[in-house]
Amino acid sequence: MKLLLVVPAMEDEKEKRLKGKAFRMPQISLGILASLTPEDVSVSYVDENLEDVNYECGADLVGITVMTATAPRAYKIAENFKKVGAKVIFGGIHPSILPQEALRYGDSVVIGEAEYVWREVIEDFKRKKLKPIYYGKRVDSKDIGSPKREIFKNKGYYFTSILQATRGCPYDCDFCSVSLFFGRSFRNREIKDIIKEIEELNHPLIGFLDDNLMGNKKFAKKLFYELIPLKIRWLGQASLTIADDLELLRLAKKSGCSGLFIGIESIRESGLKEVNKKYQKAKYLLEKIKRIQEEGILIEGSFIFGLDSDTPDIFDETLEFVFKSKMALASFSILTPYPGTRLQKRLMEENRIISYDWRLYDCGHAVFKPKNMTIERLQEGLDYCWHKFYSYKNIFKRVFSLGYRFPLLGIPLFILNLSYKRMLFETTNISSWFSQKNYGFLPEPT
Ligand code: SF4
Repeated sequence: MKLLLVVPAMEDEKEKRLKGKAFRMPQISLGILASLTPEDVSVSYVDENLEDVNYECGADLVGITVMTATAPRAYKIAENFKKVGAKVIFGGIHPSILPQEALRYGDSVVIGEAEYVWREVIEDFKRKKLKPIYYGKRVDSKDIGSPKREIFKNKGYYFTSILQATRGCPYDCDFCSVSLFFGRSFRNREIKDIIKEIEELNHPLIGFLDDNLMGNKKFAKKLFYELIPLKIRWLGQASLTIADDLELLRLAKKSGCSGLFIGIESIRESGLKEVNKKYQKAKYLLEKIKRIQEEGILIEGSFIFGLDSDTPDIFDETLEFVFKSKMALASFSILTPYPGTRLQKRLMEENRIISYDWRLYDCGHAVFKPKNMTIERLQEGLDYCWHKFYSYKNIFKRVFSLGYRFPLLGIPLFILNLSYKRMLFETTNISSWFSQKNYGFLPEPT
């Protein structure tokens, strides 16, 4: 039996894929499924962002991981495989929320985390008794495993030393689907297993893929303490609450933390309340970011536009904030009402969603009517922030100021800033995303 695991690209991103390669990382969830697949099954993997899918590869069963923005492409891939006689099973957040939609294109869907049902899926397939739906139970922390990394070899990824230490997030942001999929219960792997995996990776730079590595501070402190002797550097994602605990912050630094991606979302109190980040106070944001950077941890802050409390001056205000904070990198996006979230429910009730074309659910398109500005203004504002933050003048200013304080990080920081600029403005022109022809309407989800 031949199993092919597929990461679909965004619909029109294929021709841009090689240029965006530096930012691509292997899909760890598919690697974990590969590790759970019985030995007698031959497993291969294709990431459509890096290579074409070969429909003649002889796959008997095709597993496709699906996010909302890649769903239309995933469905096309499924149809093509079905034409050559393969069976298709979908997994991931989008089909877990909308299984009936996915079943229009494939044979089966795993709802939720797939680990505990994966062997059953394979056995059912072998007996020609694939069920339409498998309900994956929440995986116990002791059973969160490591991926079979061989499947990622020679695929063209620049950075593969990634791992997952935890699952879930204790917070409950209005727009986020993490807690829908993984639940609000925060689960962490055994520290000894994490350390073993890092030792096996044998790489000086590690990327933690967790949604919130510091969701449990007690666990995070223990982990960081154990990481110190390994003398690695690592990058991860955390909440700004790390700045409230100086011991945690310093342990993170000591353990090798070089950079954190932090979802700040809004610089306004009203915006933080709206997304259900009430535990953050707008007046302390700047101080917290500075505290983290003063400890030598660089920040990429992420901001969302299009909240009901956002007025057209939010773009300038946000830029002023990011420049003042001297953060190393920033990313900006448009509020996106992903299926199943409270945000989607509210906007549907208010009759404000203007498109269910999932291709546009990529955080770069407005798919709903904003409250206090036009859709055009929202799109232009997003574009303006990206361009301004990544102008050559601002990149140089930022890199010189941070590079002066952290000489070792100067060059990597410069490369990262330039990569962002290149990826965004040579491969993807944000302005061009907004055009009427993009607004193809698909039927409302069932
Ligand atoms: S903190 Fe991040 S991962 Fe957690 S619910 Fe909010 S957006 Fe989602």
